[in-house]
Amino acid sequence: MRSRTIKGQDQQDFGDDPLAVRDTDHYKDEYVTGFVDKWDELIDWKKRWASEGNFFIEQLKARGVEKVLDVATGTGFHSVRLIEDGFETVSADGSAEMLAKAFANGQTYGGHILRVVQADWRYLNRDVHGSYDAIICLGNSFTHLFSERDRRKALAEFYAMLKHDGVLILDQRNYDALLDGQYGNSHTYYYCGDEVSAEPDHVDEGLARFRYQFPDQSQYYLNMFPLRKNYVRRLMREVGFQRVDTYGDFQETYQADEPDFFIHIAEKS
Ligand code: SAM
Repeated sequence: MRSRTIKGQDQQDFGDDPLAVRDTDHYKDEYVTGFVDKWDELIDWKKRWASEGNFFIEQLKARGVEKVLDVATGTGFHSVRLIEDGFETVSADGSAEMLAKAFANGQTYGGHILRVVQADWRYLNRDVHGSYDAIICLGNSFTHLFSERDRRKALAEFYAMLKHDGVLILDQRNYDALLDGQYGNSHTYYYCGDEVSAEPDHVDEGLARFRYQFPDQSQYYLNMFPLRKNYVRRLMREVGFQRVDTYGDFQETYQADEPDFFIHIAEKS
């Protein structure tokens, strides 16, 4: 039987059969302190800022967006960026631990006081108030939902929290390339030079398990659902978004012609 990770613990616990862990609620147990701290320490925010470019900020500005809800705040990278760019920002996440870290990072990076709300996407309207010009769900976060029902519920909650002409910006790893064998299972993704690497440990239609390795040889795993690009686009349209545009984001990779990430921009009207 799988036991749950104690909050704040440095070790992950996927139990006896890690490949059987295909559970939406497991995300809080995967982002243990050791993993999150190491990631934040090694992936320099300024470098990440530069590598992401201004793409999504420009998309928001082009639509006259003022009020943004960051539903996957994590350690606060995108929320801080939005605040620095003058957007009124509310920072939500299902993990209290992540929000604590984001709040501290807000103070470290520019002395910002983040408005944080703990909320699971499936019950967003219950816990977050107000309506927003834009919702962002970035950093390959939507991949944590393991059932179609959860995905539909989350997208419907996002849709409901947007103003009539609001926009959802959601990104995802290019799982099509992995599932269709374009990368092979040994493809390594490097972040921040070669300091942090991510490799698929197991991939099937229902699970993409990645191994993250750090210079001190420590390793952590994330179990994610391998979202196909067109499937996500279809779900977005089915919950009511009128227009969905998808962009490829070319990051550092051995096969420069395949984007590592896709960014979906879904408009409500
Ligand atoms: N956007 C940040 C970034 O790029 O650094 C954080 C991304 S992190 C990969 C994914 C975040 O999504 C985690 O902080 C996790 O707690 C949150 N998350 C995953 N599933 C969630 C859910 N069902 N409801 C709310 N938050 C969730």
